[in-house]
Amino acid sequence: MIDFGFIKERDAKAELDEIAAELKQRFSLETLWRPHQIHSNTIFVDGEGEGDGIIITKPSIALIRTADCVPVVLFDRVADIAGVFHSGWRGTELKIVSKGVKKMKELDCRNISAVIFPAIGFCCFEIGEELLERFKNAEIPTERRGGKLYADLKTAIKNELQNGGVTDIFDQSECTFCGEGYFSYRRDKTEKRHATFVVVK
Ligand SMILES: [Zn+2]
Repeated sequence: MIDFGFIKERDAKAELDEIAAELKQRFSLETLWRPHQIHSNTIFVDGEGEGDGIIITKPSIALIRTADCVPVVLFDRVADIAGVFHSGWRGTELKIVSKGVKKMKELDCRNISAVIFPAIGFCCFEIGEELLERFKNAEIPTERRGGKLYADLKTAIKNELQNGGVTDIFDQSECTFCGEGYFSYRRDKTEKRHATFVVVK
């Protein structure tokens, strides 16, 4: 059995242990993995460490924390394998989601679906001119509006998914910056984070 979710409005820095304990209790599971996130494209399988993605193939929970960066869940209900990935602009530049799709295919996933959870949108994700060339090279769409430069991480990630053969994509991603009830690091310089989790049971 596969499950996944996105937890809003919690102080994950202070309460991540509490969220972890609740999830273990809710799903009656002992094992919960969470990476020490470093904006990389490092992915662990049934483990954790310095990285930004975890794939689970055994009964367990994995979670990542975000506020504006894009949380992406991949799951295959036939193979009973799921993954959760932290794809901010650096992770998107490094194509962590493509790497996740590839790793899951190596684990014999043939029916991968994807969910994109709330993150900063094209409406609000302003970037500096110095990043334009990098974003272009990384195939992350950009647009100039009112003299400012904006980037579209979610479309870049959808393109990654489609290029990897994943067409079953659920976009649940409201904008964390202008949407209601979200933590936004950009907007508030907050320490608070959302938790996105996957479960294999
Ligand atoms: Zn917005």
